[in-house]
Amino acid sequence: MTLQERLNQYMEKYCLSGAEAARRIGTHPSQVSQIRLRNVYTPALAEKIYKAFGDEFREYFEYEKCPYCGSEYLPRDERQKTCLSDECVKKHRAEVVKEYERKVNSGEHVMRTYNERRPKKKKYLVLEDVKPPVTFTEFNERARSQGLSYGQLQGLERLGLR
Ligand SMILES: [Zn+2]
Repeated sequence: MTLQERLNQYMEKYCLSGAEAARRIGTHPSQVSQIRLRNVYTPALAEKIYKAFGDEFREYFEYEKCPYCGSEYLPRDERQKTCLSDECVKKHRAEVVKEYERKVNSGEHVMRTYNERRPKKKKYLVLEDVKPPVTFTEFNERARSQGLSYGQLQGLERLGLR
């Protein structure tokens, strides 16, 4: 039986309104509706319902055992690997770092260069290296030899006069 079915049955049996059920669970009525209409809930909410309504609601969440202190906790998501005590979180973080270093040192994990990581399929616009036919200095020299300024020679060339 789903939590949705069980909660609906329970509320019918005890003539509980959504608001009253929410009050007893200690949550917002909209969360109760989410379960009753769509069977949507978090483990934390399932635990609250269990604490409010008893053993028949025990099967809708799982406790995890903290590998460091052995206490039971309700994971918020699959990334949470320890209970929430600072000490255990720190121990776990240290272990993750150690494991990462071990992988890097043993060559199991190798940082690849940008060129290796760059997706091959992606097309990059390759621009040719454009070099001006004459450098600034050369052009300046040429202008001076004709008794002109840089700008004057440039202007004349643009007009096709030189
Ligand atoms: Zn712990």
